[in-house]
Amino acid sequence: MKIYLASGNQHKLSELTIALQQAELDGCEVFSANLIGGMPEVDETGDTFEANAIIKAEALRLQGPKDAFYLADDSGIEIDQLNGQPGIRSARYAGNNCSDQANNEKVLSELKEVPEEDRGCRFRCVLALMGEGLTKTFSGTCEGTLLREYRGSGGFGYDPLFLPKESESTFAEISSEEKAKISHRARALRYLMEYLRERLSLN
Ligand code: IMP
Repeated sequence: MKIYLASGNQHKLSELTIALQQAELDGCEVFSANLIGGMPEVDETGDTFEANAIIKAEALRLQGPKDAFYLADDSGIEIDQLNGQPGIRSARYAGNNCSDQANNEKVLSELKEVPEEDRGCRFRCVLALMGEGLTKTFSGTCEGTLLREYRGSGGFGYDPLFLPKESESTFAEISSEEKAKISHRARALRYLMEYLRERLSLN
């Protein structure tokens, strides 16, 4: 089973690659989209994480081998006080092609008056696995709080502002190994692995 990763985001790619390699799934090989022309530009026109993950996986599938599988990630942060925003618009909340810093500044300013106890939020990740005649999605969440100030220099996106319930450290302060245990992506990956193990054991 060959799986091509349908993402151009280096951080996501490394989290997905490490998890899939560590799972040591017999008979499963993971490849970069670069081997088949690179991840194409896609318009994320869906209104759910599922729809957008499928759009990305399908876009890469169209330029790769028919008998392979394609895995995409759509993810973001949902802030309770903003009625679940930025959600699917997390990457472009402060404008198209904006920086992580601009997105972070925007949510910080929108939550300026919001007290600690009302700063609940969660990361959500949906993975879409596609192959010929196959479309499967797997989702995971990680609950936490949106801090008032940046803490830590690791990770990407909203990591320095996100304090997960399971830890006293933000996603930008914990190691990648720790993030790989508790993150939204890690949780979605667990469901994907279960599916892959079962599928591979049937072959
Ligand atoms: P996507 O590439 O359209 O799925 O957008 C994902 C966006 O959600 C990223 O650009 C980040 O802003 C945010 N995001 C998703 N996962 C994470 C994470 O693990 N840490 C921090 N930010 C994340």
